[in-house]
Amino acid sequence: MKKIRTLALIAHDQKKAEMVSWAMKNKQSLSRFNLCGTGTTAKLVGDATGLEVKRYLSGPLGGDQQIGAKIAEGEIDAVVFFWDPLNAQPHDPDVKALLRIAVVYDIPIATNTATANYVITSTLLH
Ligand code: PGA
Repeated sequence: MKKIRTLALIAHDQKKAEMVSWAMKNKQSLSRFNLCGTGTTAKLVGDATGLEVKRYLSGPLGGDQQIGAKIAEGEIDAVVFFWDPLNAQPHDPDVKALLRIAVVYDIPIATNTATANYVITSTLLH
């Protein structure tokens, strides 16, 4: 049986509207994945799309680290991470660690809408 891929969604506060808008536009594609995300992002995307999105802790409270651990365990296949390049984040070390672990495990990590569009439509993920 074909494995259903798992996609993690994370957006910093100034990027949450962009994430919700992207998720709504791509609802049909997203429905083909197991979805998870950091606490607030997962709730907003779940509410807006009606899709089930597993909620980890909020990013600043350890959610990024939880998702990083799942990547290391091979349980997350791709990440859409709209990080905010214009504002300092209290959990900056966790943000860097998440970006790092995604590279270590060679999984796609889209950090803006343009790249997320490529990732979600890629035949490699389906
Ligand atoms: P949040 O976390 O979805 O819980 O807001 C995202 C983040 O700031 O890393």
